[in-house]
Amino acid sequence: MAKVILTGDRPTGKLHIGHYVGSLRRRVQLQNEGDYDRMFVFMADVQALTDNADNPEKIRQNIIEVALDYLAAGLDPEKCVLFIQSQIPELAELTTYLMNLVSVARLQRNPTVKTEIKMRGFSQGEGEEEEANNSQRKGLPVGFFCYPISQAADITLFKANCVPAGEDQRPMLEQTRELVHSFNSTYGEVLVEPEILLPDNQACLRLPGTDGSAKMSKSLGNCIYLSDSADEVWQKVRGMYTDPTHLRVDDPGHLEGNCVFTYLDAFCTDEDFAEFWPEYANLDELKAHYTKGGLGDMKCKKFLNQVLNKTLEPMRVRRHELEQDIPAIYEILKKGTEQAREVAAQTMDEVRRAMRIDYFNDAELIAEQAARFKAE
Ligand code: ATP
Ligand code: MG
Repeated sequence: MAKVILTGDRPTGKLHIGHYVGSLRRRVQLQNEGDYDRMFVFMADVQALTDNADNPEKIRQNIIEVALDYLAAGLDPEKCVLFIQSQIPELAELTTYLMNLVSVARLQRNPTVKTEIKMRGFSQGEGEEEEANNSQRKGLPVGFFCYPISQAADITLFKANCVPAGEDQRPMLEQTRELVHSFNSTYGEVLVEPEILLPDNQACLRLPGTDGSAKMSKSLGNCIYLSDSADEVWQKVRGMYTDPTHLRVDDPGHLEGNCVFTYLDAFCTDEDFAEFWPEYANLDELKAHYTKGGLGDMKCKKFLNQVLNKTLEPMRVRRHELEQDIPAIYEILKKGTEQAREVAAQTMDEVRRAMRIDYFNDAELIAEQAARFKAE
């Protein structure tokens, strides 16, 4: 079977190092290894609008920011198709049909959607709706509630079978697989069941924010952005949450929930030690010293800053070059979108045929109906 890779990001802000370790780094690796038939990366503006309906300008502005981040991080439009979700009307069409194959109760059980509804303060249900009106809380938009279905359409329209993503996407992939199963058993084998490709490093499954909170997220303002300047990165690393009980250098330090060490887990390699801190051979040695006591936070932060900048500096340089020709970036997205639409149209032909709604392309149907009415 062909190997088709697909992933996307919501253009709600610039990309941060959580996106990078959770998915983008893997995409670039897969792209460069070249072991695939097709690779698609897209900006999920339709999904971004599900909770930003009143702020389309935010999405419009961030399309180019995300595109610059993609290219700066190493995605290559010659090797992967970059496109914009809203410009593929077939996605909306497939979403509509998939909606008939999943129950409201099943959608309500999706743990990621549950968390995100809570995070955004959307109210649900009749009683709550009234309360929401009084407290200015917003009611849950139908579009937001249904976004896992639209995400299933994103994946299946391109027959993707490999989706490199962070852990929050696991329930989406599960739901997509169920939908594929349901579609294929109802209408015939057309869609393909995807697999999630999670980061193999535990720290990257869900990178915490610089404030120590559960997830680095654009919406929470606790991010180190791929495009931050070296100075901004240092300010953020310096202020990073570590271990509140590690007051004096001699105190034993704790690694649990300590962002500096989580980020080192996600980013540093033995070569980084050789280059920046040869006193230690690897992260295990550094951790052992830290937990024993006698190693200050500031030294570790300086090292983390060097490690991060080693990855981020080449991206900054590339981004700066790319920013000099913005029309060329839109041209890349336009071309990618055209390529994606060709694939989308092919799958939709198959979907319509399987669903028996290809009325005008089915000569047999027309002949059959003609014969039936003649006979009567
Ligand atoms: P928003 O706050 O608008 O939802 P987000 O920061 O959660 O934005 P998404 O666009 O929802 O970002 O996620 C894009 C991809 O990046 C997904 O594959 C997701 O799993 C991954 N990702 C996002 N944040 C993290 C993180 N902190 N750690 C690991 N992966 C992440
Ligand atoms: Mg998200």
